[in-house]
Amino acid sequence: MSKTVSRAKSVVLSEADPWTAGLLLRGLVILAAGLALLAPLGFVPIIPVATGAIAVPESQGGPALIPLGAPTPTPGPVALVTPVPPAPQVIRVGVVPGHAGSDSGAICPDGLQEAQLNAQVADLVAGMLRARGWTVDLLDEFDERLAGYQANVLVSIHADSCVYAGKTGFKVARAESSYIPGSEDILVSCLSRYYHARTGLPFDANTITFDMTRYHAFYEIHQNTPAAIIETGFMLDDRELLVERQDVVAAGIVEGLVCFLEGEPVR
Ligand SMILES: [Zn+2]
Repeated sequence: MSKTVSRAKSVVLSEADPWTAGLLLRGLVILAAGLALLAPLGFVPIIPVATGAIAVPESQGGPALIPLGAPTPTPGPVALVTPVPPAPQVIRVGVVPGHAGSDSGAICPDGLQEAQLNAQVADLVAGMLRARGWTVDLLDEFDERLAGYQANVLVSIHADSCVYAGKTGFKVARAESSYIPGSEDILVSCLSRYYHARTGLPFDANTITFDMTRYHAFYEIHQNTPAAIIETGFMLDDRELLVERQDVVAAGIVEGLVCFLEGEPVR
């Protein structure tokens, strides 16, 4: 650029008369001084010249890139206060006591109702999760909040009917067509293993039905919210556990959720 200017100057000096040349030079000097003063104020754009060097982003240790025209940072007083770290995100869990706000679910001949058992277990689960500092939403079976529901995990708690004498066991399932199968498989695995370890019930894979894998809430919540449904046991043969030891039932579910959200405990 300077070569061009000096060449222009020499052309001007050699061909014009001294007065014109002098005026022209003065004008150029004044113009240059004006530009030099106005550039830092942002009135005159500074056009960067590519040097071929690769700019290293600031995040990778390169220099901070300040956009042209940005106000000149003024040095302020040195902060002596330690910056406040961002607040940790509180874990949110959705718990659906099966059939809540809708119907009784399965009913035994003696009047024992599934919805009642589900509600009692869900309350215990919610209490244990809140004791960990987590946020819990207790949701009805057809809760309006299920539409697009976003949380770290959602679990729906049900129990199996009184119909099958000699049937024992629990089961866990996720959506048949899941957007996040990898994550939900881990959820199912965690719930299954910890529920089994806590309650001693066998996993009853043979009676997983479309009622579970096509469970309506799976398709109402946000596609990125991992969700599972658990059938905690049969109301006939597993009645003693479901009625008398609900704290054990709840602990098995809670431990499965902790496994999913915080990983396997180190032993
Ligand atoms: Zn049910």
